[in-house]
Amino acid sequence: MTALFSDVIFGPVRSRRLGLSLGVNLLPVAAKLCNFDCIYCECGYNTPEKGRFNSREDVRRLLGEKLREMAAAGECPDVVTFAGNGEPTTHPDFEAIIDDILRLRDEICPSARVSVLSNATMIGRESVRRALEKVDNNILKLDSAFDDTVRLINDPQGACSVARTVEEMKKFDGNLIVQTMLLRGTHNGQRVDNTTGREIDAWLELVREIAPRQVMLYTIDRDTPSKELQKVSVEEMRAIAAKVEALGIPASVAG
Ligand code: SF4
Repeated sequence: MTALFSDVIFGPVRSRRLGLSLGVNLLPVAAKLCNFDCIYCECGYNTPEKGRFNSREDVRRLLGEKLREMAAAGECPDVVTFAGNGEPTTHPDFEAIIDDILRLRDEICPSARVSVLSNATMIGRESVRRALEKVDNNILKLDSAFDDTVRLINDPQGACSVARTVEEMKKFDGNLIVQTMLLRGTHNGQRVDNTTGREIDAWLELVREIAPRQVMLYTIDRDTPSKELQKVSVEEMRAIAAKVEALGIPASVAG
């Protein structure tokens, strides 16, 4: 079963990779709202029900309360992560919310890092770019170098071109982390595999051009809405990570 995040603030959860992580969901709690519809999305597929963004005021109040509670218990989060039921950067007040959260962080839990997980579709918008420049970890999705593979895996709900996304990513001057989901299987009778030699060679070329400060590779972990997808092994991901590191870019693998 795929599942929605049922709150504005979720967690904290402890993981070996991130430490103590508190999540922020700017998207509706009753429905997913995304301009992609990835076949691997842990929130399930988009539905006709749209729901409303959580308001800037609610996010600020609820996060402030949670951070104060955690600080009082002597357990500030290591990281505050913007993720949740869809694409956070589509929120109309995204930059203002980031500013609010950075202020709360500085005031209550200054050691916490702020991360945003985004599908990179909105980075051409000036306010989104400014906001992402301010956070500690600007983590942007790039699942393939090919538009037809992106159409198959990510199912963009509007116009989307890898070339344009890459041009926008380059404008961060390395202040970004590229995140790539590796998977294979079948979807609607079509073969899906973004780990073939052709895929990885073309993707590596884009990674070299973008020159991010890190690449994060991961694979399917929980249930996916498309049912015939398979995990990629940690060994295979490590081999791809080694190719990234050969470009002088640190790479991490989450199995
Ligand atoms: S971009 Fe993220 S939230 Fe949107 S469909 Fe893909 S995995 Fe789900």
